[in-house]
Amino acid sequence: MIIIMLGAQGTGKGTVAGMISTATGLPQISTGDIFRKNISEKTPLGIEADKYISKGDLVPDEVTVPMVEDRLTWEDAKNGAILDGFPRTIEQAEKLDEILSKKGEKVDLVVNLVTPREELIDRMLTRRVCTNQECKATYNTKLNPPKQEGICDKCGAPLKQRADDSDPEAIKRRLEIYEEKTSPLVDYYDKKGVLKTETVSLSINRMGKDVAEDVINLLKEKNK
Ligand code: ADP
Ligand code: ZN
Repeated sequence: MIIIMLGAQGTGKGTVAGMISTATGLPQISTGDIFRKNISEKTPLGIEADKYISKGDLVPDEVTVPMVEDRLTWEDAKNGAILDGFPRTIEQAEKLDEILSKKGEKVDLVVNLVTPREELIDRMLTRRVCTNQECKATYNTKLNPPKQEGICDKCGAPLKQRADDSDPEAIKRRLEIYEEKTSPLVDYYDKKGVLKTETVSLSINRMGKDVAEDVINLLKEKNK
């Protein structure tokens, strides 16, 4: 089962993906997390990716697509995966279809999270991530603060703000790229009949965990 998380930065894609992962046992594959791990370890892939990420640009497909293709061959992904942050362009979506069809698989479900723009910017500015690469828990200083300020509840490591979340220019650029390059995927997957759109917003008191619950129930129904 291949599940894709779609949605602008700050909608809570990663959080929802993590909850679905826990419930289903499918691994959460976050391209952003893989890049950040490589950047912190200064691997060649990380050094290359950082040139783009620090500016808020997309990492080129020549780097991103093979990385995902390889990750999907790992043992933990033999029953599928939850893709969080990939695909982000129509080209990537087409390449993913090719990669999956070679294995007789396809995209089963696309969860599209929609959040008002003002909330998105606020959420990126207030997002904090655990510095422990094995943990990577995320918090929000307003919506989901840790029990002790600056410290991860789960593992006790310090929290920090992502570099691209603290730079207003990079935030703006990422949202623009989302609109231009990623939002066409909504139509792409709608046409395939696999799209499930969900609003996540404080204004209607509907948060990531509510969406995750819905998706988990839907998957249980499907498996009956
Ligand atoms: P966000 O969605 O908040 O920008 P991510 O953690 O998903 O954060 O990604 C961080 C950065 O990694 C992106 O801004 C982009 O530069 C790069 N990135 C992640 N996924 C992809 C992808 N599928 N294609 C190209 N670049 C990507
Ligand atoms: Zn942690």
